[in-house]
Amino acid sequence: MDSDLQAENQALRRQLDSLLREARNNEEKMRRFDQLEHRLIGARSMAELLSLLLNDYRQAFGIDAVSMVLLDRDDEASRMLDAERHRHEGPNHHEPAPLDGLTLLPSIAPIAPLFQGQLHQPWLGPFNEQRHRPLFGAPHAAPHRAPQATLASVALLPLSRHGELIGSLHFGSSDPSRYERGAGTQLLERLAAIVSVCLDSALNQERLKLAGLTDMLTGVHNRRYFEHRCLIEIAQARRYRHDLACLFLDLDHFKAINDRHGHPAGDEVLRSIGHLIQSQLRLGDTIARFGGEEFVVLLPQAPLQHAREIAERIRASIAARALLLPSGEFIPATVSVGLAMLERAPEGSREPDDKQALALRLVDAADQALYRAKAEGRNRVVLSSEPRIQALSA
Ligand code: GH3
Ligand code: MG
Ligand code: MG
Repeated sequence: MDSDLQAENQALRRQLDSLLREARNNEEKMRRFDQLEHRLIGARSMAELLSLLLNDYRQAFGIDAVSMVLLDRDDEASRMLDAERHRHEGPNHHEPAPLDGLTLLPSIAPIAPLFQGQLHQPWLGPFNEQRHRPLFGAPHAAPHRAPQATLASVALLPLSRHGELIGSLHFGSSDPSRYERGAGTQLLERLAAIVSVCLDSALNQERLKLAGLTDMLTGVHNRRYFEHRCLIEIAQARRYRHDLACLFLDLDHFKAINDRHGHPAGDEVLRSIGHLIQSQLRLGDTIARFGGEEFVVLLPQAPLQHAREIAERIRASIAARALLLPSGEFIPATVSVGLAMLERAPEGSREPDDKQALALRLVDAADQALYRAKAEGRNRVVLSSEPRIQALSA
């Protein structure tokens, strides 16, 4: 009798131990989940949010594969990520984490069938090569990374806002029992809801940031953005001993255009000129509307001769034909351009700490050259009389 009781006692103890272990495991999982949730909510940018999901979440929960599809209507998300990358280009910033596993799609048509209208219900079940491989990419797609584990089960989380699918988050495991059909999905549902809200708010924040740096009339960057970007370009030009050219452009007799055709037509001319200038530039160049009818352009890594050619090309393309307005009106317009160059940093010099002063003097020299272009008859490019803007302290 005694030994029976003892055996039963031991069995109960083992059961209790295993329950305790499971409870402790769950508690630990909840703690990690809470932690990640806090970081998701605290993410300060789109890229940070996406990196948390694609990199940190995978590590924290030991998931074999994580990937994500995001709706990129009108290239909005890709432009935001691009703008963010530029913000990180300064010498004092860290490289943002890579976003392996992220796919931006112009339409959610390819992922919609996965959820069949169930916008709040994660799908758990066995991995299906045909249906699920495209979500995770080829197993050896990235040669620098360890080969992906063979997947046996997946969890697909729909991301939705205001009743619309905006993307999906995918977890894959080599363990067939990790994501089983019919298993509890409370945590995954909660994760999907939080990620959806965070994404929506990150998109809205980025929209606001972009709106604050974009000129509403012409769609090119505004002066605030230019002032920020100019410091980054100067730092890079000095550090890598590159050329940096600055163009200052002003429309000729623009007041007369307004007077003759009306202010709205003048606005259209400004818009067209902004586009025309932009169409002559490379991706790494910067164009901004500086004020009224003035634009400023930065050309990194452009030696004098090249910068002069670009300036001349912009001038000529505007002068070559009258601008066609939506009203059907043709309006001829010309611009005058001032050009100034930053001096290349001499060998062995340290980065100057007066980037702000250099930026002011570079733009001022281009502006002075513009005045001369006006005085000499307009519709021309004039080089600054100060051939190279130098750092005073270097
Ligand atoms: P100049 O060749 O010497 O540059 O002559 P200008 O007439 O272009 O120069 P001025 O500085 O006398 O006039 C600039 C004009 O630009 C006056 C202003 O009404 C107009 N302007 C400034 N901002 C805007 C705008 O956003 N829209 C329109 N339509 N006109 C603008
Ligand atoms: Mg003018
Ligand atoms: Mg002006």
